[in-house]
Parts: sequence; structure tokens; C-alpha cells
Amino acid sequence: MILALDEGTTSARTLAFAPDGRVLALSQEEFPQSYPQPGWVEHDAEEIWAAQKRTLDFVVGQVGAGSVAAIGITNQRETVVVWDAKTGRPLAPAIVWQCRRTSALCRQLRDEGVEPWVRERTGLLLDPYFSGTKMRWLLENIPGLREKARRGEARFGTVDSFLLWRLTGGRVHATDATNASRTQLMDLKTRQWDDELLSLFGVPRESLPLILPSDGDFGTTILAGREVPIRAVLGDQQAALYGQGCFSPQMAKNTYGTGCFLLKNVGENLPTPPDGLLATLAWEKSGQGPIYALEGAVFVAGAAVQWLRDGLGILESAGESEALARSVSDTGGVSFVPAFTGLGAPYWNPDVRGLICGLTRGTTRAHLVRAALEAIAHQSADLVEAMGGIARLRVDGGAANNDLLLQLQADFLGVPVERTATTELTAWGVARLAAEAVGLTIDAQQLAPTVFSPTLEASARQQARIAWHDAVQRAL
Ligand code: ADP
Repeated sequence: MILALDEGTTSARTLAFAPDGRVLALSQEEFPQSYPQPGWVEHDAEEIWAAQKRTLDFVVGQVGAGSVAAIGITNQRETVVVWDAKTGRPLAPAIVWQCRRTSALCRQLRDEGVEPWVRERTGLLLDPYFSGTKMRWLLENIPGLREKARRGEARFGTVDSFLLWRLTGGRVHATDATNASRTQLMDLKTRQWDDELLSLFGVPRESLPLILPSDGDFGTTILAGREVPIRAVLGDQQAALYGQGCFSPQMAKNTYGTGCFLLKNVGENLPTPPDGLLATLAWEKSGQGPIYALEGAVFVAGAAVQWLRDGLGILESAGESEALARSVSDTGGVSFVPAFTGLGAPYWNPDVRGLICGLTRGTTRAHLVRAALEAIAHQSADLVEAMGGIARLRVDGGAANNDLLLQLQADFLGVPVERTATTELTAWGVARLAAEAVGLTIDAQQLAPTVFSPTLEASARQQARIAWHDAVQRAL
């Protein structure tokens, strides 16, 4: 069997997969979030490790270590951990991907005019989201850290690197190319740390992990007295892309959670991302070279449904949104642009705020809820269009349990939408890669999807899209 360590933003999980793809054991533990100032988000890496280790021990306690062939790790991306090279102790709180503390630094760097070449080399934008400015902030603000890093006594990494360090007893300081592609320190073409980027963010090369292919040899760990190889590491969105089986160019997946993450496989050639979209690494397999992806995010997706529930109180639960939205045949002319925190691609406007328009005396909460589901589908369709279209879309995430949402998605895109039977796409993706790395396969039979086919005529689709874009224009 294969163990997958799935280290997310709010919880750590361990899953054991059988060769036939079944989940034999699963353990999950939440860890604390810390918000020390407005816009700041931190984790204690020690708590992440403790939670991850307990879930691992629990699963090994259930299924034993005797038949574990390999371990795969998938993780929240961009979050930065810095630890002592001797003791392995964190030297500062981990700065989480959501943390906005480096906004001013990003603005300053943009004003200095460096964004075009940073974007060309990394595929990313100058945004606090990525690791580069987070590392620079730590080096400038944690007393003594810069000197420690220069003397080779500090280690930086994304969460995968920290877990690898701990799992291997400090023998391995490595990361995989997908995680490295989110740091803003790696050249997307060479898949190596780039001297100019390191100097821009002030990060000493000695403090960074070795970049390995996603199915590389990441060392071994001891489980119940047995040495087990760690043979795959992938960032969480890339693991979902792999788990969805999006192996050929033009195949895409969308994850519907709080926000949406849409990734499209674009093959072996480094893409030039359209405005507002990111170019990133889909994965790199040993001896096979890189596969690239385009990535786009919708900031507010399931969160719009959450807002209807908690902010307006017109829903009891997120799940109830489907039945309520189905109780009307359309939104009655209502459009809802949930731009609570600005709009991403292709509008890329951080200052725009939300809007509900087209209200009449006949508008009911059902219309509002339906408009919220439509907004999730329209925003995702905007990303797909910015990416140059797709032939079909594979979907996962909590809100993908909503059949109406997926039907609307198929209708607005005009292509089939496929939902796999398993919800564990991220863990499954990295488990599958780890299995392949040790010459095994995990059966994908149980992934037979439910397909939502488009039902709208082209003209009706166009009309729906125009109404959405009109509403966005009003909000902008
Ligand atoms: P995350 O991993 O981002 O926390 P999840 O994948 O757990 O998100 O999905 C939770 C989000 O999906 C919430 O924002 C919730 O409002 C939304 N959601 C969950 N179930 C449904 C549903 N049946 N219909 C619409 N939205 C849903």
C-alpha cells in the first residue's frame, strides 16, 4: 500500500491507499491558525509536524508498516518555514500563503520595475501570496536570522521541506519542483534556484533545499521500526491535477472550495501566461522533463454561499443551496458579483467590491442563492476563457457536491464537466505518483466520473455570459 501525507492549510491528514485504490485508513487532525495582526496569518511549524506525525502514527497503527511500499507528501503551497539546521527547531512562525504582510514590499518592488522580468522567469506575479517576499521579510525582521542564514545555520523551505527534514531525521533538505515553482525563487525553465531572484529577495542559496523531480528520491523514514522510502512530493493543486488524471495538454481541473483553483495542463513547453494568470509547473518526473500548467484562481466561490448562510442568514447550510436554487428556474434577472476582496483574472482589480443587481419586487432568496451559484460558474468560465478554452473540465472540492452548480458550469462553458467518485483527489494524486515511482500502479477504476453535459443552446449561453459581464462592468 501507499501512504499519502496531505498537509493542508487547516489540518494534517494521512491516508493509506490499497493497490485497488480503496482508502484503508484515514486520520485527520486540525492545527491552530494564528492571526497576530490584521491581514497576517501564521502557523507554528512544530504544531503542523505534531499533527502530521500523530495522523501518520494512527494510520500505521491501523494498517501496519509491513506492506507500505512508499510515502507521498502533498501540501499547502507557498507557506514558508525557517528552522535551525542543528536542532531542527523553527526559528520563527511559519508565514502562511494567505498572509498579506508583504503587500508594501510587493508594491515597492513593482514600483522599482522588476515585475516584468520576475514574471517572465517565474510565471508568477509580485504578490504577497508567494514565498519570496515572505523569506525576505523573515530575513529582515527576525533578529540574527540573516547572519545565521549566511553561516549556513538556518534552513528555509515550504512545508514539504520541513516535513521531509523531520521525517528523515534531518538527513534530507529537499523540495520538489512544483513546490519550488511557487517560491518565486526558481527559474521555471531550468527548474533551479536563480541567482538574480535570490539576490532580489536576499535569500542565501545555502539555506534553500535541493530541488528534485516530483517523483524523486526524498530519503527514507522509519515507520514501526521499518525503513520506508518517500518517493513523491507535489503541491496540493498539482496533486489534484495529477489525481484527476489530467495527463495530456488541454486537460484541466477546477477545485471548488472557499475559492476555486483552475489548472490546465499545457504540456512540455513553457507557456507565456495571459494577463492575470500564472504559469506554473504541473509536475516533473525523473528523466521525463517538466510538464507545465496555467493556473487561475477565483477568490470567492463557496465563500459566497457561506456569506448567504452566515452574513445574510438566508440559508441553514451550504448544502441547502442546491434545493433552494432549484426551486426557481432562473435568477429572475438577478446577478451577484461576489467581489468581496476584489476580482482576479481576467479583471485583476483589487479595489472592486461586491454587487447584487437586477432586483425586483418579485426577487426571493431562492433567486439570490441561484445567482450565487451562477457567479461561481461564471467566474470559473472567465478563467477558462482567459486560458484559451478547454475540451472538458474535471472537478472536485466541497462545493462540487452541488449538482446544480456543475450543470450551470457545463452550460456556461459549453463543455462536459466530470466529477469523480472519490473526493480525495489530492491525496490520491500524490499516492498515485509515489506508487509509480516504485514501479507499482494504483487502480483508478473507482474514479469513474459523473458527467454533466451542456444543455444550453449557444445563443442562450452567450446571453447568460453577456448578462454576467454586464454585472461585472457595473461593479468595476
Ligand atoms: P476549503 O478546502 O476551501 O475549506 P471545501 O472544499 O471544504 O473548502 O469546501 C467548502 C466550501 O464549499 C464552503 O465555502 C461551502 O460554503 C461550500 N459548499 C460546501 N458544500 C456546498 C454545496 N453543496 N453547495 C454549494 N457550496 C457548498
